[in-house]
Amino acid sequence: MTNVAPRAGAPHSPSSATRAVALSRSSGESLVLDLINTETLDRGRRRDALSSPDALARWWGEACQRYPDQCLLGGVGEPPAWTGELLDAITSLRMALRALATQVVEQLAVKEEDLKPVNAILALSHAALEGTEQGNVKAVMRLHDLEKGSVVVPIAHSALQLLTEFDWRRLHQCKHDHCIVFFYDTTKSGTRRWCSPGCMNRARSSYRYQLIKKAASQQ
Ligand SMILES: [Zn+2]
Repeated sequence: MTNVAPRAGAPHSPSSATRAVALSRSSGESLVLDLINTETLDRGRRRDALSSPDALARWWGEACQRYPDQCLLGGVGEPPAWTGELLDAITSLRMALRALATQVVEQLAVKEEDLKPVNAILALSHAALEGTEQGNVKAVMRLHDLEKGSVVVPIAHSALQLLTEFDWRRLHQCKHDHCIVFFYDTTKSGTRRWCSPGCMNRARSSYRYQLIKKAASQQ
């Protein structure tokens, strides 16, 4: 069983199974949504960008470049072993997170049970304070188990931030019929409907096509 008790004054040596990560505030673009959106629909067929441990490693490398403040691996320590076991853990987490995001978008009550998979991962880490070079302090996350937590914990933490620090009304799923992408709307008006200009154009041309078809059938 993982020891989840806080380790006061844990040393910063490489032998310590802890690692610090800044609990910085993220923008609407987030690691958690990036993970959920590794599942897409292509002409009605579900596609999975995380189809193998190698694909997972590639996604993680790219995600760390996109969200360096949310990603633990920012040049610190050894990367984890990209195993089938880790892939299973990530895809299970993704399923739980997609279900949570769907509940938020559809304004359904979130049940304690639905939070369990995320909480189980958050329990692999604890929050702590760390001194900065400027003599201030900052909040950091420390992992109890580097191998187990180095990928899943930042994702779970990103989920925690999205669910507790952001406006749920701005979390949307793309309105295109054949798109399942989630996004956080950062527009001033808060009326964004599509995940991308591509989906917007496809949805609009399909709407125009329906109008023309309807007009033709009425002639
Ligand atoms: Zn879309």
